[in-house]
Amino acid sequence: MNKDLFNENQETFVSPNAKAFVVVPNLPEILSPLLAIANNVWWCWNSDAVELFRRLDRDLWEETYHNPKAMLGMIKQETLAALSEDDSFVSHMERVKGELDKYMSMNTWYHDSCSDYADMKFAYFSTEFAIHESLPIYSGGLGILSGDHLKSASDMGLPLVGVGLLYRYGYFKQYLNSDGIQQEEYNENHFELMPLELVKDKKNEPLIITIDIPKEKISARVWKLQVGRVPLYLLDTDFSKNSKEVREITGELYGGDRNMRIRQEILLGVGGVKLLKALNIDPGVIHINEGHSAFLLLEKMREYIEDEGLSQAEAFQLVQSGCVFTTHTPVPAGNEIFGADLVTRYFEPMYKKLGFSAEQFLALGSFPAKNLKMGNPSDFSMTILALKMTNKANGVSRLHATVAREMWSGIWPGLPRKEIPITHITNGIHTNTWISYEFAGLFDRYLGAAWKDEPADHTIWQRVAHIPDAELWRSHERRRERLVSFARARLKHQLKRRGLSEIMSSYADEVLDPEALTIGFARRFASYKRGNLIFKDLERIKKIITSKEHPVQIIIAGKAHPQDGVGKEIIKQIVSLANDPELKYKVVFLEDYDMNVAHYLVQGADIWLNNPLRPEEASGTSGMKAAVNGALNFSVLDGWWCEGYNGDNGWTIGSIDEYSDREYQDEVESKAIYDTLEKEIVPLFYARGIDGIPRGWTKKMKMSMQTLGPVFNTNRMIEEYAKKFYITSALSHEKLKKNKFEAAKKKAQWLINVRNNWKDVHVVKVEDNINGEISVFGDMSVTARVYIGSLNPEDVSVQIFSGFINSKQVVSSQETYEMRLVSKEGNDFIFEGKVFADKVGRCGYTVRILPQCGGEVQYISELIKWQ
Ligand SMILES: *Cc1c(COP(=O)(O)O)cnc(C)c1O
Repeated sequence: MNKDLFNENQETFVSPNAKAFVVVPNLPEILSPLLAIANNVWWCWNSDAVELFRRLDRDLWEETYHNPKAMLGMIKQETLAALSEDDSFVSHMERVKGELDKYMSMNTWYHDSCSDYADMKFAYFSTEFAIHESLPIYSGGLGILSGDHLKSASDMGLPLVGVGLLYRYGYFKQYLNSDGIQQEEYNENHFELMPLELVKDKKNEPLIITIDIPKEKISARVWKLQVGRVPLYLLDTDFSKNSKEVREITGELYGGDRNMRIRQEILLGVGGVKLLKALNIDPGVIHINEGHSAFLLLEKMREYIEDEGLSQAEAFQLVQSGCVFTTHTPVPAGNEIFGADLVTRYFEPMYKKLGFSAEQFLALGSFPAKNLKMGNPSDFSMTILALKMTNKANGVSRLHATVAREMWSGIWPGLPRKEIPITHITNGIHTNTWISYEFAGLFDRYLGAAWKDEPADHTIWQRVAHIPDAELWRSHERRRERLVSFARARLKHQLKRRGLSEIMSSYADEVLDPEALTIGFARRFASYKRGNLIFKDLERIKKIITSKEHPVQIIIAGKAHPQDGVGKEIIKQIVSLANDPELKYKVVFLEDYDMNVAHYLVQGADIWLNNPLRPEEASGTSGMKAAVNGALNFSVLDGWWCEGYNGDNGWTIGSIDEYSDREYQDEVESKAIYDTLEKEIVPLFYARGIDGIPRGWTKKMKMSMQTLGPVFNTNRMIEEYAKKFYITSALSHEKLKKNKFEAAKKKAQWLINVRNNWKDVHVVKVEDNINGEISVFGDMSVTARVYIGSLNPEDVSVQIFSGFINSKQVVSSQETYEMRLVSKEGNDFIFEGKVFADKVGRCGYTVRILPQCGGEVQYISELIKWQ
């Protein structure tokens, strides 16, 4: 809801006895489709639908911060009466309603390519979802990714349900005081003015989910937000049934202390599973999107033990096979931890039900010795809990997964880093949400209508070549103009709020130049993102910016975490620079970065700047949004850009060298920024043909759109999650469940047996036919004699592990070769295998034993034996 709409009434009068009631819109019958459209947020990624609501009342559209549901309640009856007589409006409305109906019933990717799995269901848990600026229950990148995940899931017909929390105050709104110090303001969300439906039970009463925690009961209502085809269920504790303390649980996103945070995460994880049960949704796979919701693993276990009568070991197998996990940050502080005493306080009754001792329970989330630098022995890590209890895990870019494998390698001691079971599925964006109206029009004309449904199709994006340079440039310039006028209006509003007079704030009307090279920079002001790096050498950047001939300007936005003093200091510094007489018209800080601000920025900037400290940016998605809108990325080779950059589709900052001296690193990389700006970016931007078109630049724009557009979108991402994670996990989960959990029981028994015997398992002796040298592409035969105690040979996988070997006997760029059983001699088994020498150099091999179940090698913490 728009900022100040309700504030005025809020504090004037407090009456505990006041009776509350809900006033609903009263639309003429003929306009009732408007409500149906407003109630499915599908409208927000369909420009014809957005245009329909804007057309209703342009002022109200802005005043409600683009909230159709609120508009329909506020619009005057005369206006509605007039609109119902307006044939052109009515036919526009009917066209949009027809599109929505068609969308909801048409065949989809999942229907066509995954028809064998039509009955599967998947659930996606996240602590924040960013769907639209009028639903402020998100903070930043994680929420954007969750929202875009749901939207693409809907477009592709993936049978997914979302689960999250509905925050009364959401995340804070940012404004700056006259000293440039960030102020935080929490506005109340009015759920009745959001497209939410209160979920009812069979008796048509509001469905209530209850969670017992020691000495307390948490009750939650459930709201449904329809995201195209995908329902998003949101839990809410802020209603009269609950105590004040419980009501506050769904107050602020990332607010409160550790105790508040754990209560939120219990509600999300434990409450979310109970909610699915109450709705009779039995997902084949649950996706834990970042560790916040990982307590759901414990509740799922409890279900299997208490409701199905299974043992702890059996329940563990079932939970693990049915859950997957995505980790989102390599920054240790970004990985949720709770003190052992706090988790014990809340989970003692639960872990007893699960048959764990306190020690066993805490071990599920405790840092292995090798990771102790990241956390205390008495910390309980949600990331570790999730990694241990799910069957698949991923980082959000190739580089991030590499970092995550190293970071969490202590959980699988003995396993080479390359084999740590954390893979990568690189983030994407929901193209239709982020593309500008102008570029969507260009794509319709030159790429064909299919681009909307098939954003991951490379051949469609190749057609960007057909867009005439002049048309591409004009569309982009129009977006830059829109950005400049948006920035001016925002700045004026900001200055007035800081108390400046009309005259003093009037310079805002003239800041920025709609034709100058515009750098966009918007992100959280976390210290690793280095929001002020570009100002490191003030004289040098001033020289670049203030050039008369080739002017450059920078528009900056972003919030600092309320407790992050360093981040706030950086904002303050930038705002003070933006007041410097030389920079005043060239550097603008836009307050309250959100989806709306992001739209203007990514659609209107020429250069999208990103300079995190490598490798701390897990992926980043704003650069992907900028790319499809024709902005060129100028970024450190971190996160997604490490995969996206091809030498020709944007620019990099510095190299991949990492220095231990942060100050030195900053210096090297800020210099790299200035050099590239001066030598490449500015000259290319201002190299105009006689028609004013920068053809070198538009060529790069096209290269960037063609190479990045088809890859870094959530359709590609959803297909990867569906194929690599959801469907495969659901199939093995189903297998374990069949015939009254027959296979789960067997596997649990198998694991108990393997664990009991593992200490005896070892390689007795290895022989080969190698005499010092072999020629490349030759075979080597290896024979291993192994002892496996009372295990069966099919319980183990005996492998040759070979590769280059250095003077310290470290084997690198390794390959593994499965060995096969040839005989039994006494108590030992004899395995044979061949190594294929395809590399020249100093090579080596060793033999190892891993557990194996049903023909599949198992990576179970600590269960590995090396020769
Ligand atoms: C896209 C987006 C983000 C995430 O962008 P990063 O590149 O990961 O920083 C954060 N906030 C908003 C409002 C966004 O639109």
